[in-house]
Amino acid sequence: MPRLATAIHLGRGRRLAHDHAVTEQSVRPQPRRKVVSSPYIHRLQRRHFLLFDVLPIIGTVAAPALLAGHPFGVTELVLLLSMWLLTGLGVTVGYHRLFTHRTFKAAPAVVAVLAVLGSMAGQGGVISWVALHRRHHEYSDREGDPHSPNLSGGGLAGRFKGLLHSHFLWMRRHEYPNIVHYAPDLLKNRLLVRVARLYYWWVVLGLAIPALIGGLAEMSWLGAVSGLFWGGLVRIFVLEHIVWAINSFLHMFGTRPYESRENSRNGGLFALITLGESWHNNHHAFPDSPSFGLDWYRLDPGFWLIKALAAAGLAWDLKTPGRDRIEAKRITKPAA
Ligand SMILES: [Zn+2]
Ligand SMILES: [Zn+2]
Repeated sequence: MPRLATAIHLGRGRRLAHDHAVTEQSVRPQPRRKVVSSPYIHRLQRRHFLLFDVLPIIGTVAAPALLAGHPFGVTELVLLLSMWLLTGLGVTVGYHRLFTHRTFKAAPAVVAVLAVLGSMAGQGGVISWVALHRRHHEYSDREGDPHSPNLSGGGLAGRFKGLLHSHFLWMRRHEYPNIVHYAPDLLKNRLLVRVARLYYWWVVLGLAIPALIGGLAEMSWLGAVSGLFWGGLVRIFVLEHIVWAINSFLHMFGTRPYESRENSRNGGLFALITLGESWHNNHHAFPDSPSFGLDWYRLDPGFWLIKALAAAGLAWDLKTPGRDRIEAKRITKPAA
């Protein structure tokens, strides 16, 4: 799964794409560029990397020191788990299954809530995230994939380098996918554009909520700081590394039950903690499926939420693939 880029990218990226098109047209007609690069965009990427990737690592390393002055109690546990679950569902159900792959349709209120929760994860504004992830599916494990672990050379050193690159180093500086090319459907959605423009504020809100609850629970500033660390920075750190592990480890290690042209793998052991994302080979084989588990017995909390929304009439048109289509792609046939 991808990440990065901010709401500001939206406006700036659009203008860059437009400026570029005008320049090109004045010379000779050419196809629209799929990626854009500029010192301004790379500066934003570096800033995002430091703020939302490096800072949570520092916060997580520092958090145990807090324990000397404030114990990890029930409030911290509840804040860490609930904020992780809510923002994690925002990413997998909202950013990934709904906005990127359009695997189902949803009511505007659901669209708004999922987009905001996904934004709070600090993994980039929704439109940029979608553009990056669509590019990942277009070029999976080939030149052009923003985060493949398999393009950094052979041998142990090459594989290790690839793992680090795909896990998070790629985010420091990368070609920015042209959102006009990759996400024209989202740019037409005024609600999503509005949520994307406020991206930084959603991340701040995702930090302020656990701080406020922590402070109120104990009526102390130390409680607020503790809430900020465990429900904010540590929660962002945990979810980020879970999502990044899909990009890195699950394009290298795991099982491959279905035919797909890249090296995606399933990691069934991690199904619960990844909210169903670890059925990554299933997902690449059937990207239009709202279910990543594909069968009821494979744990897929993201799909459970979609089913619950559908039962409540808030989601519809689930594009679950038929049994024939699934079996046609299976590499390892089940025993007769
Ligand atoms: Zn992938
Ligand atoms: Zn995907």
